Amino acid sequence: MDFDTIAAISTPLGEGAIAIVRLSGDDAVNIAAQIFKGQNLTEVKSHTIHYGKIIDPESDELLEEVMVSVMRAPKTFTRQDVIEINCHGGLASVNRLLELVLHLGARLAEPGEFTKRAFLNGRIDLSQAEAVMDLIRAKTDKAMKVAVKQLDGKLSRLISQLRQDLIETVAHVEVNIDYPEYDDVEEMTEQLMLEKTKYVYSEIERLLTMARQGKILREGISTAIIGRPNVGKSSLMNTLVQENKAIVTDIPGTTRDIIEEYVNVRGVPLRLVDTAGIRETDDIVEKIGVERSRQVLKEADLILLVLNGNEALTDQDRQLFDLIKNMQAIVLINKTDLVQLIDRNEVNLLADEHQVVATALVEEAGIDQLEQAIADTFFAGQLEGSDLSYVSNVRHIQLLRQALQALDDAIHAIADGMPMDLIQIDVTRTWQLLGEIVGDTVHESLIDQLFSQFCLGK
Ligand code: GDP
Ligand code: ZN
Repeated sequence: MDFDTIAAISTPLGEGAIAIVRLSGDDAVNIAAQIFKGQNLTEVKSHTIHYGKIIDPESDELLEEVMVSVMRAPKTFTRQDVIEINCHGGLASVNRLLELVLHLGARLAEPGEFTKRAFLNGRIDLSQAEAVMDLIRAKTDKAMKVAVKQLDGKLSRLISQLRQDLIETVAHVEVNIDYPEYDDVEEMTEQLMLEKTKYVYSEIERLLTMARQGKILREGISTAIIGRPNVGKSSLMNTLVQENKAIVTDIPGTTRDIIEEYVNVRGVPLRLVDTAGIRETDDIVEKIGVERSRQVLKEADLILLVLNGNEALTDQDRQLFDLIKNMQAIVLINKTDLVQLIDRNEVNLLADEHQVVATALVEEAGIDQLEQAIADTFFAGQLEGSDLSYVSNVRHIQLLRQALQALDDAIHAIADGMPMDLIQIDVTRTWQLLGEIVGDTVHESLIDQLFSQFCLGK
């Protein structure tokens, strides 16, 4: 493949004291050497860093003190010659530097083009490339860890193993079709096929279960606060937002027509969703009805049900308990600073397996326990401990679902005694779908689309 030399500022603009201009391509070293006053970069050893000054070769004007890293192919991120110029100037001088290298023949990189080159040159596979993208966007430490794990290639290895299993199965079937006279072989292969497909099926199911966790980490746990009017829902929302540093949301291209607040509760990214105007109308149940609340709740990953400890339970409270059955939910008994008229035994009974936390939001009491309950709900022995990478990518999840469906078709076909060549089609399709996750069978346009989502300079 033919590659020109690309360049971009690879540090966030306007942030941090050091900025990096990165170049990749055959001319990278040459271009850098023309503007660098210090050692001759074309003669230095690979993977070395050099102190020197940047000069404008046309005016001889001295621009900046810099550190330049020289990394020659193939042991680089893009598998091409890579130059990184570290300078500590502000925005203007970094831009000037970029302009210089563009003037000398480099081309401004498209978003994600460095990573795209790494992919096209076989340095990383697609799921790793996407992990880089997640890494750039990761919002909390824990989300970051998941992205790092995926970058490791664990997901890729697992997927590749599953594909290997499938292709071997298909090979068996082919033997069957080509040599139908071996009756006893056919019997054995069908059994084997059922075993293999069922095994792969359960592995994909496992990945999908973890995918939910991964998605949650990236996008935030969609959290709905519900309760009768006046129990303290707004107070809860305000307390959570004030107590926890709001997370900066910078996901490009997402339109938000509902009001959301991102908060980071002990590493758990919560997206407090003000769906259907929970904040405006307050009494979601009364004003929009139980039916509508059900809809709102269906889209939430976590429900915080607030009760008023200062009043006896009402039927409306009990209805809300009904709504949160089989959902991730935490029950708050609020206003514990006042006389307690609520029947705690009944609350515990209704709460069933949900955690119950006592709070007095006006006094900010019980917040610690609530936050601990939230952390427990999402991280209890699930994130730590497990060494499997999490599937945190929407495209991966869709492909896994389709693969699961195709396999399900295959398993049914086997059970129904369908001819082997038909079954083979479903198995092959599963193999293809899994291949799209690691980039084996993806189309050119999809690749372009994916990489254009990256931040510039990555
Ligand atoms: P919402 O209607 O459920 O959103 O409830 P609000 O958050 O608007 O609170 C209703 C009223 O209860 C306000 O006057 C709050 O100050 C008050 N309130 C909220 N939490 C507590 C609490 O823990 N103790 C007491 N005594 N009052 C509270
Ligand atoms: Zn309110």
